[in-house]
Amino acid sequence: EKLGVALVGLGSYSTGRLAPGLQMTDHCELRGIVTGSPEKIPEWQEQYNIPDSNVYNYENMHEIANNDDIDIVYIVLPTGLHAKYSIIGAEAGKHVWCEKPMAMNVEECQNIIDAVNRNNVSLAIGYRLHHEPNTQQIMQFAREQTYGAVTEVRTAAGYDGYHEDGNWRKNAELGGGALYDMGVYPINAIRYATQMEPIAVNGRQSTVRKEVYPEVDEITDFQLEFSNGMVCTGETSFGKSMNYLNVNTDNGWYYLKPMSNYSGVQGMTSDGTALPADPGHQQARQMDGEALAIKEGRPPIVPGSQGLNDIRIVNAIMESSRNGRSRVVL
Ligand code: NAD
Repeated sequence: EKLGVALVGLGSYSTGRLAPGLQMTDHCELRGIVTGSPEKIPEWQEQYNIPDSNVYNYENMHEIANNDDIDIVYIVLPTGLHAKYSIIGAEAGKHVWCEKPMAMNVEECQNIIDAVNRNNVSLAIGYRLHHEPNTQQIMQFAREQTYGAVTEVRTAAGYDGYHEDGNWRKNAELGGGALYDMGVYPINAIRYATQMEPIAVNGRQSTVRKEVYPEVDEITDFQLEFSNGMVCTGETSFGKSMNYLNVNTDNGWYYLKPMSNYSGVQGMTSDGTALPADPGHQQARQMDGEALAIKEGRPPIVPGSQGLNDIRIVNAIMESSRNGRSRVVL
């Protein structure tokens, strides 16, 4: 028996990756939609065989509580709306999947976690790379110290982009800016590649194309400091294409490049072991993994704490930048 998923927000990620991914999954399937754009409803209903009774808007989404077809709501909205609609989903008694970045600040993340706990539902964050085999290998190298202890991580994720006026990725209140959108990849990568939590951060946010990004960062770079003295660096940008994770260790090195592309994550180790790209559909693998965890009553593979810990670092980087790259203790 597959679990029923309702996608909340039918933008490019839902359209291009999640709905197609849900056609390949064994443990869950697309059964419902929540949208504020009525013109999208007929095509989604037709393409994915969704009955009228499983179509909602943002005003009546809470009525999903009475719909046994839907087990999981997947929040795929602009980041500034993640907390509000994750909580509505949890209060409706549905399991919640929430896209990255989890929310705007630690308080919002904690409010989501409290809501799912109160309602005895589970919460998973959409960090698809935690389900990706080469990324899992990198985590295992750190845990088992296969190449010795990690001594340094350098990582970056950015794209050479341009957002039109009206795009929420330009809007500070809705969670725009390179750091929220792409910066959580290098932050999360440093945490999974070290399997450690940083103790302090510093960072700098800037904007070159002020006419395009008047209210959010176009570029952010940061350093995360660990209790053993290790310093790891990360970078993100809306103006520069980059995508890699480089890890140095006591006895060697390894890298992933690209480290977060949908089409495949691949790399190499210092002893010549190739980490070839897995051809599978990343989002299908992610959603099946989390659906199976729910079916078997196990904790989520990517719990809310993964999202919250990254957002704590995001907010500390913003604070550091405001104060001239001050050292902010976490
Ligand atoms: P998008 O702009 O393509 O879609 C956003 C959707 O939200 C649109 O359908 C829009 O109509 C709707 N929306 C509802 N209320 C809105 C409002 N007040 N303002 C603006 N839009 C509103 O964005 P997207 O690329 O689909 O991103 C959605 C979420 O998915 C984001 O949190 C993003 O970080 C995440 N995402 C994750 C990945 C990944 O690889 N895990 C990839 C892309 C996007």
